[in-house]
Order: sequence, then structure tokens, then C-alpha cells
Amino acid sequence: MKLQVLAIAVHPDDIELSAAGTLIKHARMGQQVGIIDLTAGELGTRGTPQLRLQEAADAARIMGMAIRENLGMRDGFIVNDEAHQLQLIQYIRKYQPEIVIANAIADRHPDHGKAGRLIADACFLSGLRKIETTLDGATQAAWRPKRVYHMIQDRFTEPSFIVDVSSTHATKMEAVKAYKSQFHNPDSTEPLTYISKGGFLEAIEARAMLLGKRIGVAYGEGFVSENTPGIDGLDALLLPEIA
Ligand SMILES: [Zn+2]
Repeated sequence: MKLQVLAIAVHPDDIELSAAGTLIKHARMGQQVGIIDLTAGELGTRGTPQLRLQEAADAARIMGMAIRENLGMRDGFIVNDEAHQLQLIQYIRKYQPEIVIANAIADRHPDHGKAGRLIADACFLSGLRKIETTLDGATQAAWRPKRVYHMIQDRFTEPSFIVDVSSTHATKMEAVKAYKSQFHNPDSTEPLTYISKGGFLEAIEARAMLLGKRIGVAYGEGFVSENTPGIDGLDALLLPEIA
């Protein structure tokens, strides 16, 4: 199956928190959109890997994703090396995405930055035909996505552009809440963590509102492009009114 947009991130829930509104929007345009999780997030303090896989599948259904796969890499030990790159290249070639959404280039959780670099490098290398890969016994053709955009995760980074997600923000928050084991639940007996203490989801909501305000809409999601984005003409931009 060929995908238009493929979001790749190290932990299940990374995508939901930072890019779900954008992915849902593209899926509602009729495009094929999918997610690849590099790990099962097995080092997460709360819940179990099995539970998180189920939560990830529930979130993907809410978001209308065409596929969601988990590559089973080791949480906490992501390395941008040949073995990890080759494994990821197999899936980039399998789904031939035009656009890839990736982890932040640098963030609070060290896995995010390492995965952000790994994903961007694998997207480039995937286009080199002399790097040979096979999947299920079949030789794969080279494929390089046209674009790689990095999400803004825990640390704020100035975005290269902001996507208007006003029409999909509510569904995004439903997808985030599918991770019942991870976020705030006053009845839970599990240890409180950075993301399960009160206020975390409100902060996600507040950031979406602040980013939306900057482009004159209700909710926004920001992305970082390592190249400067161009526009077709001066009237192509969403901006707040001047007066
Ligand atoms: Zn994460």
C-alpha cells in the first residue's frame, strides 16, 4: 500500500501529542495516511507494552489511519546506526510516502532527538538504489520521500510553519485520550509521571491554541523543516489580521 503521509516516531503516543490533528486532516482529505512506531514504549513507567499496543491501535482507529506498525526496536536504546537505518529503510520503501513526519530534532527525552535524526537519515538513504533491502523475500526499489518535517514535542522549538488543525483538534484529543494508562487518571494506583500529572493534557491544548492564534485560527500544530519552505504566491499564507 502506498501512503501519502507517513508519521514515524519512537514511542506510541508521540505522534498523537504533536501531529495527530494534521494527520487526521490529511486522512479526511481522502489521502492514505499511516503511522510507524519504532518501539513499544516498554520503558514507560505506567501500563504494559501490550496495553500500549492496544491503546495505539485504538488511537489509530480514531484518527482514521490506513496502517499502524510497530518495529519492535528497543525503547531507551535507539541508535542512529546502520542496523536501525536499514530496518527503517525497509518500511519507507514498503509504503513509499511522499511526506514523512518525524520526531523532534532535539527534545527532553533523549530518544526523541536520536529518532528524529535516524528517521531523517533513513529517508535520505532509502533513495540510494545501491543500498539493497528485501522485505518478505522480495527485493525493494529505492524510494526517497519528498519532504521530512519534524514535530514539536516537549521543548518548544520555533516552527518553520503551522498547520491549521481547527477542524480536527477535538478528534486529536480523543486519540490522545486513547492512551488511558499514560495520562492523568485520579483513580489510577500507578506512580505519577511527567505526563500523567494533572495539567499535561491542558498544556497540549494550550500550545495548540497559541500556535493557532499565531496564524489567526483556533488550533494549530507546528513543524520544523530543515529547509526553508517556499510559497506559491503572496496570498497563500494563513496569518492573523493586522488590525
Ligand atoms: Zn516519546
